[in-house]
Amino acid sequence: MNDKLQLLKQIEQEINVCTKCNLYKTANCGVAGAGFSNAKIVFIGEAPGATEDKQGLPFVGQAGKLLDKGLKAINLNRKSIWIGNIIKHRPPHNRDPLEQEVQACKPYLERQLEIINPQLIITLGRYALTYFIPKTTITKSHGKLLTKQQKHIYPLYHPAAALRNGGFMKAFVQDFLQIPVILEQVNGNSKSKPKQKIIQTRLF
Ligand code: URA
Repeated sequence: MNDKLQLLKQIEQEINVCTKCNLYKTANCGVAGAGFSNAKIVFIGEAPGATEDKQGLPFVGQAGKLLDKGLKAINLNRKSIWIGNIIKHRPPHNRDPLEQEVQACKPYLERQLEIINPQLIITLGRYALTYFIPKTTITKSHGKLLTKQQKHIYPLYHPAAALRNGGFMKAFVQDFLQIPVILEQVNGNSKSKPKQKIIQTRLF
């Protein structure tokens, strides 16, 4: 096992026995995150839902299926990226996380990001976006490369929101298909700006 993987496993074990807030009392298990320990790209969502809470893995429900389609469309898969959440235990009835829960969970994600050291953080939904960049909105920022404290953040609509709303789906797909261009930009070797016009608006 490589060092990064070992360090991530250690955090996972800590999460599995975490009692720093009350969410462990109602959740089935912790959902630490999953994927490649040396990933260039990480996706960060809000918190596990019902399916994730059953399986102990991030984005394995309907929203996760859409994420997988997006990854496939840009020739990536879960083995080449890392996926995690702000909150590691499912909030009851998927309610919004409380500030105290966010603060309790924060050190886990900070350590995970420090270990993986990705080039690009893709936030999924309003909640993950404002965790990194508090004074913005998803409507204004989705599909734009932002930088905060030397971190490159690329906000997308949440796939669950895209599944509920056709307008969000269109934006989600367009933004998703720009990920390779955004990654090039981050690497500083892009000659092309993100395309203004994307013809494809469906992932499948
Ligand atoms: N929604 C999230 O934000 N995270 C998951 O892991 C699943 C659904």
